[in-house]
Amino acid sequence: MLHTHRHMLATYIRPLWRPAALMAALLLSGIGISLAGPQIMRAFIDTAERGGPPEALTWAALLFVGAGLLGQAVRVGATALSEHVGWASTNRLRADLLRHVAALDPRFHRHNPPGALMERVDGDPTALANFFSEFVVALLGNGLLLLGTLAMLWREDWRAGAAVSLYALLALATLRHIQRFGAGRWQAALQSEADLAAFLEERLRATEDIRASGAERHILLQLDALLRSQLAVLLRAFIARTLIYVGSHGMFALGYAVGLALAAWLYAQGAVSIGAAFLITSYVGMLAGPLENIRGQAEDFQQAQAALARVGELLALRPATPPGSATLPPGPAALACDAVGFRYDDDGDPALWDVSFRLGAGELLGVIGRTGSGKTTLARLLCRLYDPGAGHISLGGHDLRELDAASLRRHVGMVTQDVQIFAASVRENIAMFDPSTPDAAIWEALDALGLRELFAALPQGLETQLGPGGVGLSAGQAQLVACARLLLRQPSLVILDEASSRLDPATEALLDRAFARLLDGRAGVIIAHRLETLRRADHILLLENGRVAELGRRAALAADPASRFAALLRLGMAEELV
Ligand code: ATP
Ligand code: MG
Repeated sequence: MLHTHRHMLATYIRPLWRPAALMAALLLSGIGISLAGPQIMRAFIDTAERGGPPEALTWAALLFVGAGLLGQAVRVGATALSEHVGWASTNRLRADLLRHVAALDPRFHRHNPPGALMERVDGDPTALANFFSEFVVALLGNGLLLLGTLAMLWREDWRAGAAVSLYALLALATLRHIQRFGAGRWQAALQSEADLAAFLEERLRATEDIRASGAERHILLQLDALLRSQLAVLLRAFIARTLIYVGSHGMFALGYAVGLALAAWLYAQGAVSIGAAFLITSYVGMLAGPLENIRGQAEDFQQAQAALARVGELLALRPATPPGSATLPPGPAALACDAVGFRYDDDGDPALWDVSFRLGAGELLGVIGRTGSGKTTLARLLCRLYDPGAGHISLGGHDLRELDAASLRRHVGMVTQDVQIFAASVRENIAMFDPSTPDAAIWEALDALGLRELFAALPQGLETQLGPGGVGLSAGQAQLVACARLLLRQPSLVILDEASSRLDPATEALLDRAFARLLDGRAGVIIAHRLETLRRADHILLLENGRVAELGRRAALAADPASRFAALLRLGMAEELV
């Protein structure tokens, strides 16, 4: 744990040592100024009592006001710097976490929905930001302020010093105690808020389906139940918080009463001047701040430790599909699947069994099969989103596992069944946010796919905003965008998972043409829901329940009246497949 702390601090704080050092300097000056305030007041009061010169009083008053203003300025500066340090350091951590999470397996993502991951990529660093930015301020600053105040009291009168030190110790112990009482309840409250966020995220995302199936009532009932249980948890947390507040403030009031009584007694004894009596009460009054802050810091510290532990755990996760180091030369490459088997969950049913086929460089394999037969699963394995549980997949003579990640992504491209369009411009959606892609390259890709007219007709051309709030695209149109995305990368193996929804004839024609151009001169696997799409396939693979039901050259299968493919052709495929 300590090691992680030091490692984190070193990685994320060291580059910011300049502002951090400046912040520490400001903090120390701020403490000096705070401690000087009551001293000036004491001088003022005692001078006035003695009937000292009025100029001295004026100077003391000016000094007091000046110190107050300077103290505020220093505090503002220190806070600004501490926020800067906290956020600048954790923003780098956020970026590292996002990059890390994005590289983890789909298997990890299936078990960690976006709502929960947001909490880990953003929520945990936020807890750390508070900790990083306030650690120095709160623990160092308040600790020093506390010690300085006590030292000043000791210097004034040992009895005052001893009594108030004792009080401070007792107060810290009490605060720690009542704090523990609240911590667990607070944790539960935070958890219930995360649960609610996850629930809302999932349901809001499914608004269309929920409405279409008239499930609003059920969702609201679920929400009602969730809110009811949350209410109980929150109520307990708020009661705990109120008790802590009342308890700690009662204790500060008690401390102040002790300070007043002590000062009055010392003054009555003639042990201190009236100015010194004022000084003692002021210093006792100043203790509440640091005591409260140190308590709060202990809370932040616990949260930060928990956050740090979670961040450490997340960063320690490694993809189950670590990339190799081999690279492929550019150009077409042959693909081979040998006895590939795969299951999504270790205890689940296999999604693929003993799938084998070979595809020469530049050849096209058409994959067909009923819904749920494993076509998309095969595509995912070919892109190495998952590794097969049994058997091998090789491209250009290399097992996919041997290929380095960049080489694999450059060589293998996929248009998924359900293309994700981002709320961004057409240009960004095609170039995948790479600003270095020139417009000319995008237009060239669109030209090559025969899509120039379609995109030129958009209201603002490449600047047209897509996605929520912008132009909506149908599944087929989204696949057209994905084809352009893919063509920019010039992959040597193209995998096309045809949208299973019905497309309008115009989009269908565009897509057919785009697919044909994308596949030109490349090895390709095309998962087809329509016979049209299979026209150009050299081989046909028919999957059934994850197994190869039929495999062969298209022409041969079509010519063999006993083949399943020929039967499908006779039926027009529609009844069998869709
Ligand atoms: P469709 O024609 O509807 O696209 P498909 O042939 O692409 O179907 P797959 O998506 O490969 O079928 O699904 C094959 C099997 O794997 C199904 O039984 C499905 O339930 C299961 N499966 C698919 N995706 C996942 C997933 N992400 N997690 C767990 N199981 C999955
Ligand atoms: Mg599919």
